[in-house]
Amino acid sequence: MKTYNAYCFDLDGTVYRGKEGIESAVRFVHRLQEKGLEYYFITNNSSKTTTQLQHALRDVGIETEEFRIYSSAITTAKFISQNYKDAKVNMIGSEGLETALKEEGISVTDDLHPDVVVMGIDRTVDYMKLARASAAIQNGAKLIGTNKDIKFPTEYGFLPGNGSFVSLVANVAGVEPLYVGKPSPVMLEVIQEEYGYGKEDMVMIGDNYDTDILCGIHFGCDTIHVNTGVTSTEVVMEKEAQPTYCYENLDQVEL
Ligand SMILES: [Mg+2]
Repeated sequence: MKTYNAYCFDLDGTVYRGKEGIESAVRFVHRLQEKGLEYYFITNNSSKTTTQLQHALRDVGIETEEFRIYSSAITTAKFISQNYKDAKVNMIGSEGLETALKEEGISVTDDLHPDVVVMGIDRTVDYMKLARASAAIQNGAKLIGTNKDIKFPTEYGFLPGNGSFVSLVANVAGVEPLYVGKPSPVMLEVIQEEYGYGKEDMVMIGDNYDTDILCGIHFGCDTIHVNTGVTSTEVVMEKEAQPTYCYENLDQVEL
């Protein structure tokens, strides 16, 4: 396998499982660090702050700078500032997204004529917030969702995810939303834009075919599937679009 300039890792199921590190992945990141190669962590999780994710990585033995961590909240904020300069933004979302927008210097407004409506998971969402977002989009604002997950598993069964609320607003306003989280290529596009990499310089590494591998394929870079999480190698083998490489774990990858 060739050496890349930017190794982009999924987190859950690729670098750790809950609080437990995946040792082969931790060793691989250490090898990248020793060789001075660049790496980034990209996760659809928008509820954790970058600092919380940095601590989660530290807990499994990876010391990393915050700038290498791209949650869907952070990436959404960067995407807006890269593509909608000086935009007025209407937001539905939790603290993670609010902080990310603020750190990018994006001004959040409640008026009904913003340039962009951005939606992340908001556990206090109510009719008025959804009504305002729907109206703003009909007034011409672009609809951007941090991630499209319709539901997520809990001890009570599945509960509504961000994608459910974004779909609701999109249906009312009659538009197609743009999603930032994987499998959309936007997270890799934001990293490419920020550092000036070519697509051939980048590789996307993940356990989940439907999010990580498709994100890389949609973007147009090489991909590595690891058999340490959601999608088994057997299931990946049946897919029409194959990852560039399939490994049991990252100990098998030479640098
Ligand atoms: Mg994963």
